Amino acid sequence: IITCAAQQTVVIGLAADSGCGKSTFMRRLTSVFGGAAEPPKGGNPDSNTLISDMTTVICLDDYHSLDRTGRKEKGVTALDPRANDFDLMYEQVKALKSGIAVEKPIYNHVTGLLDAPELIQPPKILVIEGLHPMFDERVRDLLDFSIYLDISNEVKFAWKIQRDMAERGHSLESIKASIEARKPDFDAFIDPQKQYADAVIEVLPTQLIPDDNEGKVLRVRLIMKEGVKYFSPVYLFDEGSTISWIPCGRKLTCSYPGIKFNYEPDTYFDHEVSVLEMDGQFDRLDELIYVESHLSNLSTKFYGEVTQQMLKHADFPGSNNGTGLFQTIVGLKIRDLYEQLIANKATAPAEVAKA
Ligand code: ADP
Repeated sequence: IITCAAQQTVVIGLAADSGCGKSTFMRRLTSVFGGAAEPPKGGNPDSNTLISDMTTVICLDDYHSLDRTGRKEKGVTALDPRANDFDLMYEQVKALKSGIAVEKPIYNHVTGLLDAPELIQPPKILVIEGLHPMFDERVRDLLDFSIYLDISNEVKFAWKIQRDMAERGHSLESIKASIEARKPDFDAFIDPQKQYADAVIEVLPTQLIPDDNEGKVLRVRLIMKEGVKYFSPVYLFDEGSTISWIPCGRKLTCSYPGIKFNYEPDTYFDHEVSVLEMDGQFDRLDELIYVESHLSNLSTKFYGEVTQQMLKHADFPGSNNGTGLFQTIVGLKIRDLYEQLIANKATAPAEVAKA
């Protein structure tokens, strides 16, 4: 109780490989808290930090201990813990959590060098996003909630092609080669963090189209840990049951290949979890209200808030499928967790006095 009462800042960890939708997720999350997050005013234009009234999002690339040249010389990738300063990461997250401002380094993604540090004030909600928020046990213990975006190789490949080939002019071979080159370190250092996550969003190719390899239609699974304080998993129809639901029909327009939901209890790395799955995509986003009305424990403030959030950001990638839906839901759950933590903090001194 005493530790809780002293807590200033709520800390959220978001882990994923680069190019896997972290920034999109952050935009959805900060929007749930009201207001867009912007880079610090008047600071380094290459700062990776995003600040809004409620949230500050820091990118853990800023804790690289080796710059691009250093990594090349030592032959280590940015995914390798040896290229990252976990002692400093721990000290600074701990300081911010207890209400102390820090001078955080800036990793400049353009030059590949470390720039002069920037002053970060303790926010209400601190999100640390990047490759290793759950890697170091000390940092992990500071997290009030953690999320892992688990993008399957097929989908990662499809997204990289879209971005690097269409927008940056890379060749198919070079994209393949760069994914292959990252894989050993990804498997060794990034992927294992998912066992610690309170929520995992798994993105897989659809099962609605036989042998699909386009990676356009997605099967998305929201894996929610049971027994996490201030977090009660979302459910479909009946908590703890196993349910398969095809909502297409009179109330929901579905063109080929349709939409299929699934909900069931399961185990994930020896933890009890609830899994909500959506395969397929929405034709008309406003009809999402029909799906929303069948989900419970959404932590919305009013009926239709999920649909409203999704409509507001219809232009973000993944708005017509489970990636956008589940990111929005996790955002609402984080708002709820924050509000409960703060309420608890407010009542904690009274409890101490009683004791
Ligand atoms: P990160 O911050 O992890 O590098 P971004 O959010 O910038 O990732 O997304 C990188 C790219 O991946 C986007 O430009 C987009 O092409 C693709 N992408 C991300 N999320 C989705 C999604 N849910 N559906 C389809 N494509 C996506």
